[in-house]
Amino acid sequence: MVPYGRQSISQQDIDAVIDVLKSDFLTQGPQVPAFERSIADHCGAKHAFAVNSATSALHIACLALDLGAGDILWTSPITFVASANCALYCGADVDFVDIDKRTYNMSVQALEEKLVDAEKTGRLPKVIVVVHLCGQPCEMEAIHALSQQYGFKIIEDASHAIGGKYQGEPIGNCHFSDITVFSFHPVKIITTAEGGMALTNSDELAERLALLRSHGITRDPELMTQAPDGPWYYQQIDLGYNYRMTELQAALGVSQMTRLDEFVSRRHELANVYNEALASLPLTRPWQHPDAYSGLHLYVIRLDLAKLNKSHLQVFEELRERGVGVNLHYIPVHLQPYYQAFGFKQGDFPVAEQYYRDAISIPMFHGMSDNDQQFVIDTLKEVLAA
Ligand SMILES: *Cc1c(COP(=O)(O)O)cnc(C)c1O
Repeated sequence: MVPYGRQSISQQDIDAVIDVLKSDFLTQGPQVPAFERSIADHCGAKHAFAVNSATSALHIACLALDLGAGDILWTSPITFVASANCALYCGADVDFVDIDKRTYNMSVQALEEKLVDAEKTGRLPKVIVVVHLCGQPCEMEAIHALSQQYGFKIIEDASHAIGGKYQGEPIGNCHFSDITVFSFHPVKIITTAEGGMALTNSDELAERLALLRSHGITRDPELMTQAPDGPWYYQQIDLGYNYRMTELQAALGVSQMTRLDEFVSRRHELANVYNEALASLPLTRPWQHPDAYSGLHLYVIRLDLAKLNKSHLQVFEELRERGVGVNLHYIPVHLQPYYQAFGFKQGDFPVAEQYYRDAISIPMFHGMSDNDQQFVIDTLKEVLAA
């Protein structure tokens, strides 16, 4: 089976992890700060905090922005559940904004309309999590302008998007957001096995993120309520978690970062081949916004079901049976049973629901050979022709 995504591990990556195993520090050593610096420098952000997952990064990002009971977070229904769950962890409510027909990211028009309504009913969101689906950045300039008008904070869930650019600048620079989050799960663009990062340009948010990642504990005398009792002293000044990344993970991350550009450019090569090879098939290929240079985590096709005598499910199953490891990103979050219990229902976000009826993610990853790709193309042609 050709998987839809797969990590790329080099000898250099393996050596980097082994070196940590032989070193003094398995956690809380030099690799985590080095990984944070390499990502912050790559993105052009002031601060970066490595954590054990993007889910943890989203959680502490919401807490740092003071999201809590009585507050509302909005996100896209077409995302991994973590982009919404982070609000629930904080005791806040979740709502969704439908997606754009072409980018599959949160629709700026739908957002604007929903904000107008929410202002009337006094239900404006405190935080909006925008998701750069497939690696394609959202329309950040317009969303940022709305945040100024309506007073909400912005978290970029850039789990798919490291290595991409918006208006020619690296995603993660937080130019149009308060905090940006990356994931380093093995299917993503670079990996640390499990891992995530939260970036910000705000010194104040940085201080909170650092505390929340590690029990709310500080060793900085300037943050303490009294002078230290002695060299052993630390203080807990907030309620935090143990969301730390290990040195093994960070060393892998540092090593993976040296190949980030190569990873993304190979994805672009593969996408360009797909774009040409699939042009005449009854499907819609990914559309790219002119402001976007996508990290291309995913290549999503939309089946033109009116022109096919097979269902979405049939096409999906036949591809898998023939060894093409397709997937579907994502089941609309508002249709998950856990969210339906909050009153969300079929019909609430029609563009997202239509996407779910015809979208398929086809294999694309750095180590995919030209032969693998040709096999995917040929199989897709056969399945759609029959
Ligand atoms: C993978 C992913 C997450 C969660 O990342 P973890 O590192 O597995 O916690 C969150 N949001 C999106 C959009 C993702 O793709």
